[in-house]
Amino acid sequence: MTSFLDLDPADGFGLDNLPYGVFSTGGEPRRVGVRLGDHVVDLAELERAGLIAAAGAGRHPVFAADALNGFMALGADAWDAVRGRLQDLLSADGPADLRDHESLRARAIVPLADVTMHLPARIGDYTDFYSSRQHATNVGTMFRDPDNALLPNWLHLPVGYHGRASSVVVSGTDVVRPSGQQKLDDGPPVFGPSKLLDIELEMGFFVGPGNELGAPIPIADAGRHIFGFVLVNDWSARDLQKWEYVPLGPFLGKSFATSVSPWVVPYAALAPFRIDGEAQDASAGNPEPLPYLRQREPRALDVDLEVALQTPAMRDAGEDAQTIARSNARYLYWSPEQQLTHHTVNGCNARPGDLMASGTISGEEKGSYGSMLELSWRGTDPVAVGAETRTFLRDGDRVVLSGRAERDGTVVGFGTVEGTIRPPLT
Ligand code: CA
Repeated sequence: MTSFLDLDPADGFGLDNLPYGVFSTGGEPRRVGVRLGDHVVDLAELERAGLIAAAGAGRHPVFAADALNGFMALGADAWDAVRGRLQDLLSADGPADLRDHESLRARAIVPLADVTMHLPARIGDYTDFYSSRQHATNVGTMFRDPDNALLPNWLHLPVGYHGRASSVVVSGTDVVRPSGQQKLDDGPPVFGPSKLLDIELEMGFFVGPGNELGAPIPIADAGRHIFGFVLVNDWSARDLQKWEYVPLGPFLGKSFATSVSPWVVPYAALAPFRIDGEAQDASAGNPEPLPYLRQREPRALDVDLEVALQTPAMRDAGEDAQTIARSNARYLYWSPEQQLTHHTVNGCNARPGDLMASGTISGEEKGSYGSMLELSWRGTDPVAVGAETRTFLRDGDRVVLSGRAERDGTVVGFGTVEGTIRPPLT
């Protein structure tokens, strides 16, 4: 598929991708667009011009909207139809309705450099899983027992917790260093700014159609409830977390900010990157999941992920962020479908626009770990960046996570999610 726009096929934003986002220009209201190369195609304009219509939307505009929730709620048939229509309209040899309509093209195709991106959805609930085996093993090794790093439940269910939706922010939003209680090893708890501020490299998905309260989503249907994927940085204050988490789990050490990338890569766009992933049966020495979690199709996603860091000194010297870790979404043991099915198996209702994140994605080697906690091995082995080293984040540090999938000539980009640490407000 070739577009009538001049695109660089290597950049991952061609007709194979077409990620959705919410954008604005100047003082104009927010609306839905898809990214195509260095352009944003304004779907509200195409909807008004009668060139696209989302089946099931009735008279409600789903693209002249400040969030994707309405479109997410319509389901996979509506998404597939719009995606197919857009691939047609934007291709070099498709219908002329947009390609040869000069004034419409001028209105509907906006330079990426001219837009401001916003959160893609109104996020009612945010859930964070813990699905990377190496990450769970590293954390278990550091804080508990190297010989029994995985807790007994881990290979039987996707462990997760309910996060905080109100503090999910779009890429580019600064993150204020949180303050809270910290317990020193040999003293009473103290209050102050976190000294162990960290990142977590994750992928997240947005829920499409939800489920009725009491009616679980079966594993065979789960894929049709997943709208698409974003990159997630689940910022974490390790010192706050360590003191507060017993016995109910993460709280203020996590809830101060979670950043997401602005472009939601459609579920369908990742079909070429499905791979088997780690066996969930005795062939690999793992227990077979209970029947409700058994997934027949390939579960894993082959998406390359990177963590880059730019210190204030690097920024002053005009140096780019430097890559400090390379990972891949294939390292997730539990799939998005298994996560969603498990989440609803007790009858809990998921809703359109809910965000579910994977948990930190760490590979098998040190350079593929998805947090500073692991990269610096609890602060004992500082990471080189520019002319400096880091164990945890300092004020002014800018972190950039990026993602990209490439296979048999098809390239799908996720873009980036980034954020800069600001000192605590006084
Ligand atoms: Ca996390």
